[in-house]
Amino acid sequence: MSLALIIPDRPLQGFIDALTAELPGVPLQIWPDIPAPEEVQMAVVWRHPAGSLSAFRQLKAIHSFGAGVDAVLADPALPALPIARIVDPALTQAMVHYVHTVVAMYHLRMDLFLAQQSQALWKPRSPRPLKHICVLGLGEIGSVVAAHLAAQGYQVSGWASRPRQLDGIRTYAGEPEFAAAVGQADLVVCLLPLTAATRDFLNAERLAMFKTGSLLINVARGAIVVDDDLLAALASGQLSGATLDVFRQEPLPADHPFWQHPAIQITPHISAVTNVATAAQQIAINYRRMLAAEPLLQQIDVTRGY
Ligand code: NAP
Repeated sequence: MSLALIIPDRPLQGFIDALTAELPGVPLQIWPDIPAPEEVQMAVVWRHPAGSLSAFRQLKAIHSFGAGVDAVLADPALPALPIARIVDPALTQAMVHYVHTVVAMYHLRMDLFLAQQSQALWKPRSPRPLKHICVLGLGEIGSVVAAHLAAQGYQVSGWASRPRQLDGIRTYAGEPEFAAAVGQADLVVCLLPLTAATRDFLNAERLAMFKTGSLLINVARGAIVVDDDLLAALASGQLSGATLDVFRQEPLPADHPFWQHPAIQITPHISAVTNVATAAQQIAINYRRMLAAEPLLQQIDVTRGY
């Protein structure tokens, strides 16, 4: 019985220590050093190499190391097994903090003043008239972000695939209600999962449904937004700015036009990073549930893709 970690290109010692403390005596095999693949019953993965799970003949469950599972499901050789993900109040609070900060930045026009500073330009402006915010995706993270923004006094609308009822938030569901959800919003926050249905979803046609001159924050996945269509929307004034934490290709290539764009703010996928201590606790609980043949907590619906 053992647990494999396939989490390339990340310092892992803190997570290994936390998981060892949660699961004393359970052997951990750390990819690419997997001496006994036949003993692996659970794999914890983050952007694992496609096909790398096929070596585990006794595998019973797959656990994402993060909240998203798009990179797990992208493996064409993925075994048909239960898949769980991290759902963590600490991660959600980190996202709330990020979105709150960016909204406040736009509200106070800090983006404009930082640009003015680089030109030694003293030009006061009153705050942006930013009243209405739309949150795309009302799941574990999006619903909390929407509630936080509503508590700050913003008028908040939210959009999901199925109808939802959330106190203080006007909710919309499904493609037919998308235009109504975003049409009045001064700022749109994207917190959708990346699935077959959401890939390239924010394209020219849908960005044209946004309010003219509105702002976009994408903290979900880069491939939900069509890069060229976003650039065109900024050029035409349909959008007046975007803050992007996630990209189709990460790290964002040095020659990508987003880097130099005056209306785009970039952060390197830091809006809500997995907390190793709480992730280790959740994975340990699911490991024990797997051994007891109990359903995993935070299991995803593979057919929906999230
Ligand atoms: P979640 O609990 O699975 O919620 C997903 C939400 O999106 C649900 O409300 C769902 O609608 C909605 N949705 C899914 N597909 C849709 C579609 N085609 N049309 C309309 N709505 C759709 O996900 P979460 O935990 O809140 O996380 C959301 C995403 O944030 C993750 O998948 C991940 O990619 C991203 N994330 C990024 C970071 C970062 O550091 N940048 C950190 C954590 C998470 P229903 O309610 O109707 O199912």
